[in-house]
Amino acid sequence: MMPEFTEELIDRLTRYCAIDSQSDASSPSRPSTAIQLDMQRLLVEELTGIGAQDVTLTDYGTVLATIPGTDPGPTIGFLAHVDTAPQFNASGVKPRVIRGYNGGTITYPDAPDLSLTPDDFPYLGEKLGHDIITASGTTLLGADDKAGVAILMTAARHLLANPDHPRPTLRLAFTPDEEIGRGVDPRLPADLGADFAYTFDGGRVGEVEYETFSADLAMVTITGVSIHPGFATGKLVSAIQLAAKLLQTLPQATMTPDTTAGRDGFIHATDMEGDAAEMRLTFILRDFERDGLAAKGALLKQLCTGIAASEPRATITCQITPQYRNMRYWLEDDMTPVTLAHDAARAIGIEPVSIPIRGGTDGSRLTEMGVPCPNLFTGMQNIHGPLEWISAQDMARATELCLSLTRQALK
Ligand SMILES: [Zn+2]
Repeated sequence: MMPEFTEELIDRLTRYCAIDSQSDASSPSRPSTAIQLDMQRLLVEELTGIGAQDVTLTDYGTVLATIPGTDPGPTIGFLAHVDTAPQFNASGVKPRVIRGYNGGTITYPDAPDLSLTPDDFPYLGEKLGHDIITASGTTLLGADDKAGVAILMTAARHLLANPDHPRPTLRLAFTPDEEIGRGVDPRLPADLGADFAYTFDGGRVGEVEYETFSADLAMVTITGVSIHPGFATGKLVSAIQLAAKLLQTLPQATMTPDTTAGRDGFIHATDMEGDAAEMRLTFILRDFERDGLAAKGALLKQLCTGIAASEPRATITCQITPQYRNMRYWLEDDMTPVTLAHDAARAIGIEPVSIPIRGGTDGSRLTEMGVPCPNLFTGMQNIHGPLEWISAQDMARATELCLSLTRQALK
């Protein structure tokens, strides 16, 4: 029988969520915001307090620690990210706990128009009697990924207090800047020193994710011919009009985020800026397969070439750079980390579910860099917005999964 972790998880999550540690994609510094170090310094203090070894805050802003093993086995890394999403207000988070959820509508003290209902979010309807944690209506909660942090800190505290709980050597990593895709420093794989790892950054109970998108970034620059509009007849070449033409020519009914699902990838215009003289367009290209991703890049380039050919006075460049790759490419060579997670879940009565993620995780980069790293559930729901919520009992299941993994790894 597993011990009861719910109260410790509620305490940790509410304390961690109240600390603003939002990341900022526009900042060139590392970590992107200094406030993330407030979380990191607290974790250093708490890890030291519970007796973790080798507690370090690296100069790239990651907190590392060791939980010594009781038996020989693979060294397993466990990761969670301390930053919260830049997409929504994250300052002044006031977490509150709804004890013994009764299945009704959840309202918000700071936003009377807002409500959370099981009709809109059926997973909430499965959580009768659970302790539900939300924010107050004007901010996100930040369970993404303070839940992962709380789960790992609770598991670590339990293991360090119970030296008989069998486990191999474990390494913990709390990373900054995951939400802006900068969570994995090139030095992290060596500093982590794990044979394989897991992020606790997933949603509903049972999720064991080992397939992510493969991702490229495309920058299109369109240079027209700028001239005073009063003297423009037959001379002006508007970069804005060419940009509009490019967007219009892309397959908008079959290959955008809003028109695709499941295993289909997309081309998504995320940003456009400039003027009649020059326009810069940013696209993200996503697909689960290398071929599909390459085809999307080729299509974009081909359309740019076509538009350039229709207006020889304009210059159009299309620069494609890799972002991350589907972790399945590496995991299918050695499925040990996935099999272990599946076995560890079943050992505590949870049926694992592995669905491809239409996004990436810190684990995608880490896997590519040689540390296979599937993603495990925490319970977090409706992330990156004011309706974000999590069940403390779901987090307790994730904590149990972490402990089950450490046992299972010795078998
Ligand atoms: Zn996350």
